[in-house]
Amino acid sequence: MMYSSSRGAAEAVPAAQAIKMGIAPDGGLFVPDHIPQIDSDTLTSFGKMFYAERAERILSLYLQDFSPGEIARCVRAAYNSGSFDDASIAPLVPLEAGVFVQELWHGPTCAFKDMALQILPHLMTTSAAKTGETDEIVVLVATSGDTGKAALEGFKDVDGIRIVVFYPQDGVSEVQKRQMVTQTGKNVMVAAVEGNFDDAQNGVKQIFADPEFNGKLASHGMKMSSANSINWGRLVPQIVYYVSAYADLLAGGHISLGEEINVVVPTGNFGNILAAYYARKMGIPIHRLICASNINYVLTEFINSGIYDRRRDFARTISPSMDILISSNLERLLFEVTGHDAGKVANWMRDLQTQGRYEVDDEVKQQIQAVFWGGYASDEETKATIRSVWENSGYLLDTHTAVGVNVYQKYLGASGDHTVTIIASTANPYKFSQSVAEAIIGSDRLSGMDEFAIAQALEEYTGKPIPAALRDIEKRPILHRTVCPKQAMGRVVLDYLQIG
Ligand SMILES: *Cc1c(COP(=O)(O)O)cnc(C)c1O
Repeated sequence: MMYSSSRGAAEAVPAAQAIKMGIAPDGGLFVPDHIPQIDSDTLTSFGKMFYAERAERILSLYLQDFSPGEIARCVRAAYNSGSFDDASIAPLVPLEAGVFVQELWHGPTCAFKDMALQILPHLMTTSAAKTGETDEIVVLVATSGDTGKAALEGFKDVDGIRIVVFYPQDGVSEVQKRQMVTQTGKNVMVAAVEGNFDDAQNGVKQIFADPEFNGKLASHGMKMSSANSINWGRLVPQIVYYVSAYADLLAGGHISLGEEINVVVPTGNFGNILAAYYARKMGIPIHRLICASNINYVLTEFINSGIYDRRRDFARTISPSMDILISSNLERLLFEVTGHDAGKVANWMRDLQTQGRYEVDDEVKQQIQAVFWGGYASDEETKATIRSVWENSGYLLDTHTAVGVNVYQKYLGASGDHTVTIIASTANPYKFSQSVAEAIIGSDRLSGMDEFAIAQALEEYTGKPIPAALRDIEKRPILHRTVCPKQAMGRVVLDYLQIG
């Protein structure tokens, strides 16, 4: 299988090359030339397999230039009991009749980003070796909070790779920030950017596209890559858990073979829900993909109107990992729904860059609406959902998953569609203790407490344990203090690498 650019102006490459490069040289995203199919027998056989075995099968369909041994090594290094605190890796938990939460946060940093970022470093070093790479790889990451820590954990002390993470100075939770600035490892750099996530992401994109910058690195035996979900190596491991969820529902007798399910995904950069879309294209019977946003609801509007318009105020919410106005992975969806029309995609992306908006044609809009349903939740609604789910089901939602649950309820109201449903749960509630505690304990009783004291109060109140990865995090030494304006991000990278 070969990977080409969603914008059509770059040479097609095998998976190893696409993963090593991260982003295509024309600024587009690498996309597979076809979507492999998964048949019913395979799906049924998955019922008896461990998560890692399922992952091996699915990855081998997409990474055809990797040997079975290479894939097995990567998968086993990632999905094991040393890194994940639940044996099923991505367990399904029943919330109510026919509705399941898939907990994607049992990895080392307590957010779903671990599902991909525990394996990406292994895919990347394998890709580098396979392609005869001799340069050192410098991974640049822009994070809205969770990617940064997950990437740092995944890449720390990996030979031949250095990693630089930029996060928006005031756009992440106290726990998220603390997780990053206490990061250990001999090859890691963390810096705060004065701006929001889009500023950080744009800064990274500009560095990638800067020929002079690339030249400087090349002359020092270095080249850049990406660990953001624009890297195909992030996307493909995410397809696995949707297939895995279907296999679990089947094996548990909750659905019969071929029965359709709905999938709800709290969405930011559109990576997670896009993986579900690929799973659907592989033949997993998914009826609707429900795209849940917070009040930065660019995607809700896009799904409803076919107009993507980022010209609006950026709102900071209690679900910060979804505070995004430019959902990069939408570009891959557009490539699929236009029947691989890279010219069209390139034009829309140019419009987005130059005018801040684009509008797709009716046919594309109808194709998207046939699969996707979009909705959003305000912070107030999100908190109300956390409270009601806690009171009615005794299940503790984080703020992002609560956006998903709220939008799912809106979907039910609008459609009356009671198809068996999976709601992707993207973070452990203790990553966002403050908002979760405010929702169920009330702000009055939390006044004067910092986020760490609040986590303890939440633990006492709910009896749900703080995960080991987050316990006592406030006592770890702070190792990274750099803050920079968005124009200076390139400088920060060069200084860290001690070049030019
Ligand atoms: C990253 C993240 C999201 C958004 O996922 P995308 O793939 O960017 O759409 C949602 N919730 C949490 C907790 C996240 O970390």
